[in-house]
Amino acid sequence: MRIVAATQNKHKIEEMSAITKKFGMHMVSRSEAGVPDFEIEEDGQTFEENSEKKAREIMKACNEITIADDSGLMVDALDGAPGVYSARFAGKDSNDEKNNEKLLELLKDVPIEKRSAKFVSVITMVYPNGEKIVARGECKGHILYEAAGSNGFGYDPLFMPDGYDKTFGELSAEEKNKISHRSIALQTLREQLNKKIV
Ligand code: IMP
Repeated sequence: MRIVAATQNKHKIEEMSAITKKFGMHMVSRSEAGVPDFEIEEDGQTFEENSEKKAREIMKACNEITIADDSGLMVDALDGAPGVYSARFAGKDSNDEKNNEKLLELLKDVPIEKRSAKFVSVITMVYPNGEKIVARGECKGHILYEAAGSNGFGYDPLFMPDGYDKTFGELSAEEKNKISHRSIALQTLREQLNKKIV
């Protein structure tokens, strides 16, 4: 099954391709599907809204089955922030480093037992006939006081998943892909696809 990835984040594409390959899906990039380069405004209030919007806009541009991930980090001590604003947490010129600095600054006086957080990923698959499948995955953990590891992307070096003594930045891609929010969402999607086929 060939599916077009709506995302242009190369880290997300790598993770999603590695996981979906095991399901027998072949993910191709927007450019491979002949989609011109354009920005999609992520103006939804939820991961679900943004995920569906991205999937539909790219599907309309290529008329192929398309998959989109909208994801982010929700920190309990910050009432769920940065949430849907995870990519642009530090403002207009955000990047991973600035976002991580801002997060550490906001949490500097928060004790370890109150640093719980979760990563969320909502994957939407849309078909050219308009049908959609939505799957959500979450991975719980906590935020450290300083970065550890240089694997992955985004907030990975600050996030230690429950049951592990390494951050996502220290785990290998394979280890992260076994437990991550994105892999849970993709497995749920796969189960829904299997039910649809049966
Ligand atoms: P999106 O592209 O609007 O879905 O934004 C996703 C943002 O959430 C990324 O830019 C990261 O800051 C954060 N994020 C989502 N998934 C991960 C992950 O697996 N590791 C680290 N950060 C993530």
